[in-house]
Amino acid sequence: MTKLEPGYIRALASQFGRLIGSDCVLTDPDLTAGYSRDITGRYGLDAAPIVLRPRSTADVATIAAFSAKESLELIPQGANSGLVGGGVPRFPHQIVVSTAGLRTAQPHQGWVTVGAGITIAEVHEMARAQGLAYGLDLYANPFVGGSIATNARGARAYRNGDSARQVLGLEAVSAFGAIESNLGGGQPGIDWLRMLPGSEGTLGIITAADLRLIPAFTQRATAFLGLASMEAAVQAIELLKDNPAVEAVEVMLSAGLQFVCTTLNLTPPVRGEAPVYLLVEAVGNSNPTDLLIEALGELPDGLVLNDALGDDETSRRALWRFREGFPEACNQFRPLKLDVSVPLAGYAKFMAQLPEVVTHVEPGVTTVLFGHGAWGNAHVNLINVQDPVAAAEATFGLVASLGGNFAAEHGIGFSKARWADQYLPPERLRQMRDLKHLLDPNGLLNRGVIFAD
Ligand SMILES: Cc1cc2nc3c(=O)[nH]c(=O)nc-3n(C[C@H](O)[C@H](O)[C@H](O)COP(=O)(O)OP(=O)(O)OC[C@H]3O[C@@H](n4cnc5c(N)ncnc54)[C@H](O)[C@@H]3O)c2cc1C
Repeated sequence: MTKLEPGYIRALASQFGRLIGSDCVLTDPDLTAGYSRDITGRYGLDAAPIVLRPRSTADVATIAAFSAKESLELIPQGANSGLVGGGVPRFPHQIVVSTAGLRTAQPHQGWVTVGAGITIAEVHEMARAQGLAYGLDLYANPFVGGSIATNARGARAYRNGDSARQVLGLEAVSAFGAIESNLGGGQPGIDWLRMLPGSEGTLGIITAADLRLIPAFTQRATAFLGLASMEAAVQAIELLKDNPAVEAVEVMLSAGLQFVCTTLNLTPPVRGEAPVYLLVEAVGNSNPTDLLIEALGELPDGLVLNDALGDDETSRRALWRFREGFPEACNQFRPLKLDVSVPLAGYAKFMAQLPEVVTHVEPGVTTVLFGHGAWGNAHVNLINVQDPVAAAEATFGLVASLGGNFAAEHGIGFSKARWADQYLPPERLRQMRDLKHLLDPNGLLNRGVIFAD
């Protein structure tokens, strides 16, 4: 099937309406459009023919069972904040299953049980109500299900662990419509639910999760540092990331900061030029400013050229505004986004060489680089790209030559699937394919994501 004929769409929509309620089935293009294209504007359709909005796990199971019987392809969708084209339909015959209606929420002492459609901001609120915190902290506000499916990380992940580390239990619907759960406790033997973090909607549809909460730090202090070189920045990252008071070390290159300041009309936070900037955050239950100053004092002389300190909420937020302004400014130019990581040993080389490597194949491109420095992550934003495949291949080639990962925290999705065979270790790829075949033999869940074929 390559196309859904209008008559077939109507018949299918009424069938789904009978199964889960007609108000949960969208076919009006004005309504389906919002679920059809991703946030980058690069992936998806103008308007998917059918979007389903189940209200319960039982609804999701009904949808999956019916779709398995009729060989219908499903695209699980969360908040649609993903950046690799994985949560939107690529072909008109693919049916979007939005998890926005799965909104149960139950607090427990030290953990919560939430539906897949609860947002991360809402989990933070639930945690705060208990005087605790949730370990995942992103500039975006994804759903719980989407964040687990992509195994999202963020600036504090090197301390708190990725999304998978926050999960105590999961409930999910299989490709055949079976509801499986280890909420409230584990299952004996092999448990496929544990394979769901990072599976990007290809193995099952996550419907609920038990999430652990962690002790909250009540106070934060932030420094914005201009470093003498990328090598100096890496030296500083190595020292700062192991300091127990430090929770985030973010990297921004000078050209990118200038671009952000010009695009968003901001005045740079520090006086004077530096080739690279770090944003460092220290946490504590009493004012951690002294701890931060102490940590910075341990850096060798000459590394830091200039700095600004945010020791109260307003000045701290003002410094983060520059780091958070990177995606905001880049997104105004519809960039090609490639999220990669390299070991810190090769990080300086990567940051220095990438702009040239890219302009070698795509002369007019502006490369904006920033990322979660603590673990060698780089959000590569390429502006004015004419040939995305050539630009991506040049980037991934450099990443591979430095022993890095072509997909860091955003996932492989649809946009990087064509390179999975080339850049994933063969044995790991074989295991992933075998698992996919076992759990979804007809390839109905998120076809084209992670695996190109
Ligand atoms: C400004 C900005 C900043 C960001 N910062 C970060 C960051 O710091 N770190 C980071 O890791 N990511 C970041 N992201 C990327 C994005 O927020 C994450 O990938 C997020 O986890 C996606 O969740 P979502 O709910 O939006 O899922 P979607 O985008 O809707 O879907 C993402 C993938 O998960 C699958 N999926 C969604 N829900 C389910 C479900 N219930 N069951 C099974 N599969 C499902 C989809 O099929 C798709 O493959 C950022 C994005 C933006 C726009």
